[in-house]
Amino acid sequence: MRPNPRRAGEFESHFARAKTAVRLVDTTLRDGEQTAGVVFANQEKVRIARLLSDIGVHELEIGSPWLCPEEREAMAEIARSGLTARTLAFCHADLEDIELAAECGVDGVVISASTSDAHIRKKYGKDRTWVLGRVEEAATAAADRGLPFVISAEDASRTTMDFLLTFAVAAEKLGAERFRFCDSLSVLDPFRAFQVIQTILETVSIDVEVHCHNDFGMATANSLAGIRAGARYVTVSVNGLGERTGNAALEEIVMALKILDDLDLGVSTYHFREISEYVARASSRAIPIWKAIVGTNVFAHESGIHADGIIKNPLTYEVFSPRRGRPDPPAGGWQALGQPHDPAQVQGVRYRPLRPGGQ
Ligand SMILES: [Zn+2]
Repeated sequence: MRPNPRRAGEFESHFARAKTAVRLVDTTLRDGEQTAGVVFANQEKVRIARLLSDIGVHELEIGSPWLCPEEREAMAEIARSGLTARTLAFCHADLEDIELAAECGVDGVVISASTSDAHIRKKYGKDRTWVLGRVEEAATAAADRGLPFVISAEDASRTTMDFLLTFAVAAEKLGAERFRFCDSLSVLDPFRAFQVIQTILETVSIDVEVHCHNDFGMATANSLAGIRAGARYVTVSVNGLGERTGNAALEEIVMALKILDDLDLGVSTYHFREISEYVARASSRAIPIWKAIVGTNVFAHESGIHADGIIKNPLTYEVFSPRRGRPDPPAGGWQALGQPHDPAQVQGVRYRPLRPGGQ
C-alpha cells in the first residue's frame, strides 16, 4: 500500500526509544513564589523543599539570592538541610548574583538571560553581543567557584531560531550542565514545542530543560511535547504555581508521563494531595475542585450512567485509581493518614449517584 501523503509524521517518543530518565526541576519556591500575591514564610519554604525532596523530586530551584537577606537565609537553610534533591539558585547573568548564590551553599546555579530581541532591546536596552558577554562572565564566575550551572534562555520561544541556537551552542561551550528553554510568554503549542526542542537537540549535545507557562492552558502539554522530543529535564511547580497563569504542574507531569507514556520517574505520588494542600495553604491559593490529579472531584461522579459504571468497575470511568502510584500505604494503614485522598473517604463521594442521566 502506498503511503498516504496527507498523513502527518509521528511525534515519536524519544524516551520510549532511549529509556533514559526524565528529571524534574521543581520551581515552587522560585517561579511559584513569583505568583502575584504569593509569599512563603521561610519555615514554609524549608518544609516544602523537604516534602518535595522526600517524594523523590530530583532538583529544586529554591530561590533568587538577590531578592533580600531573608530569601538567602531560607536558601541557606534548605541547602544545608541534607536533602536528597539538588538545590539550585536562580540568578541573573550577573557576577553579584553568582557570589550571593555561592554564599547560600547551593549545589548549582541557573544563569538566566533573555534572548528575544524584544527583551534585549526593550528590557535591557542592549544587543545580543552584550547578552552573550554577560552570560560568559557569569558562567566563568560560577565555574571559578566550582558551581555547576544551567544556562537559561528567558523568552526563548520568541527568539529567532538563529540566535537561540547561537545561545545554546555558547551555553554548551561555556560548560553549562544543560540549556533551559523558557516559553516565558506561552506562545507555543505542543506541535511547535516538539519541533523547537528537537531542533535544539540536533544542534547541541548537552541536555535540554523545558520551562513552560500556562497562559493558554498548555503548560503541561507543551512540556510533555518537549520531553517527547528529547528534553530530559522539565520545570514543574506544585499546583502549577508561577508567574501569571503558572507553570506546568508537578502532579500533572508526573502522572501524565506515568499513565499515558508509561514512564515512571520514581516519584512517590502517594503524597501529592498532601503536598498540594500544604502549598495551597501556604500560598493562600486554593486547589480548584476540578484541578487535574489533585482536585477534590478527580474521583467524584455525578451522572447515573457514570456512577453505575463505576460501581460495576471503576475502570469504566476512571483512567487511574486513587491507589495508582501509591503502592505503599503509610505506617498505620490508609485510615491512619486521615487525608481527603484516603480511598476509604474518596469512595463515599465517588460511588454516590446524585442525579440520573447525563453522559
Ligand atoms: Zn517562568
